Amino acid sequence: MDTSTAKRSGKCVLCGGRPLSREHVWPRWIAALIKSQGGPVHIRSSGGADYDTTQLDLTVRRVCRECNHGWMERMESEVRPFLTPMMTTTDSVTLSVEDQFALARWYTKTMLMHDLTHSTPRIPQDRYTEFFAEPRPFDDSVIWLGAYGGNRWPAFSDVTGTLVEYGTGEIAERHVAALTALNVFLQSFLEAGAVWRAEDSRRGLWRIWPARDEPITFPRDGFAMTDEHVLAVTEQLRDRLRDRLQDRFSQP
Ligand SMILES: [Zn+2]
Repeated sequence: MDTSTAKRSGKCVLCGGRPLSREHVWPRWIAALIKSQGGPVHIRSSGGADYDTTQLDLTVRRVCRECNHGWMERMESEVRPFLTPMMTTTDSVTLSVEDQFALARWYTKTMLMHDLTHSTPRIPQDRYTEFFAEPRPFDDSVIWLGAYGGNRWPAFSDVTGTLVEYGTGEIAERHVAALTALNVFLQSFLEAGAVWRAEDSRRGLWRIWPARDEPITFPRDGFAMTDEHVLAVTEQLRDRLRDRLQDRFSQP
């Protein structure tokens, strides 16, 4: 789990290859859409950043050219046709089962890239290797999709997590990530070895992973989250994370 090894060696965090290239944390086509809406963008990240900017050209130099311009770029083209209207219009968009899978996969990739902006990424190296070997959402993650109707965070990204060592010496990872891009809100919860219930009861949010077996209409029930909702669900999940850790620790 030593991410610094890969960093020092100058190898791709995904495939271990070279040479490295600059990967845009906010895909350029998304940054362009956000910019075209005008006005400064409020950035809030778990790294402690909380500021207004017009720049969304943050890059990380941790991914090789082949990954960057090959399969990762294909993931962008895959979601762009339906993610563009979801981001920029209030029209409802139907997502097929395949679209939902593509979006969950794209989100997982994007979350991993966002995490690389931290000097010490929250998500361990194994996950990057796992994602390269099998580019799909992690089996032990759950991903939620909602509409965002607030105006504070046209671009918001948050990856938080912790590695916990139990009395048995077992190391567990717990991560919560969230992202807004114009009208779209995505959130994930990742816990090593977790099996997620098919619970689907969060107001206005669709569970897009684990996979459903039918198309969905975005936004769910025409519901759009406000800034307060975004803060609340982000904080709630963090609290739940803390509670679960405490429960686990308080067990004999
Ligand atoms: Zn690579």
